[in-house]
Amino acid sequence: MIDTHSHIYVEDFEKDLDEVVLRAQQAGIEKILLPNINEESVGRMFALVDRYPAYCSAMIGLHPEDVRKDWKQVLERMEPYLDRAVAVGEVGLDFYWDATYKSEQLDAFEYQIEWAKKYNLPLVIHMRKAEPELLAIMDRHRDDRLRGVFHCFGGSKESASRFLKHEGFVLGIGGVVTFKNSHLAETLRHVPMDRIVLETDAPYLTPVPFRGKRNEPAYVRHVAEFLSNLYGVSLEEITEVTNSTVKRIFG
Ligand SMILES: [Zn+2]
Repeated sequence: MIDTHSHIYVEDFEKDLDEVVLRAQQAGIEKILLPNINEESVGRMFALVDRYPAYCSAMIGLHPEDVRKDWKQVLERMEPYLDRAVAVGEVGLDFYWDATYKSEQLDAFEYQIEWAKKYNLPLVIHMRKAEPELLAIMDRHRDDRLRGVFHCFGGSKESASRFLKHEGFVLGIGGVVTFKNSHLAETLRHVPMDRIVLETDAPYLTPVPFRGKRNEPAYVRHVAEFLSNLYGVSLEEITEVTNSTVKRIFG
């Protein structure tokens, strides 16, 4: 069982990070992948990787909500760290709260897709209120080598099929699938089990029964249990299938 999307290097975990990692290990989580947010988070993220080199792996990318006018200089300073990264992430488009830097977000996303091609790394993509723009860019950059995760997917089955037309890509599924008011479980009935991976997005989007509390990697187990019921398979099978999908994408 792998948590493919966890921000446990942020301040929320400052006081009990070692316990959080220990609880994850005890819950059977085999690995944690860390998506980067901005330039400031790079140091804290790699400090965690240095502390748990066999357990935590880092990504490098600029989160769309952190894209500003100076995005290109920021990315130029971040590029050398790609040597130590397992993916380009998290990147993408988010016009939900604020579309002030819409054109910068579009440019920064395309620039980081080029990173994925240049360094042969998977992409971990964040998208909110930007589906047409995102799919248009993805279509323009279509390339057999491109692969990755549409993180925190929460759309309809029609939307899932539009995203999954990109053969190298899978959907990141986390706590939202366990929410009563979410249609995601219904959508997943139309998504093959080998096109999803598990994630928490810790500290956010905590699954039932801990909804409302801080999320942490150990809780990915609740997502896996929910999915094993949904797909009508054992916990071992959902673990095995999602693990091998992670291997296919991240190597
Ligand atoms: Zn994230």
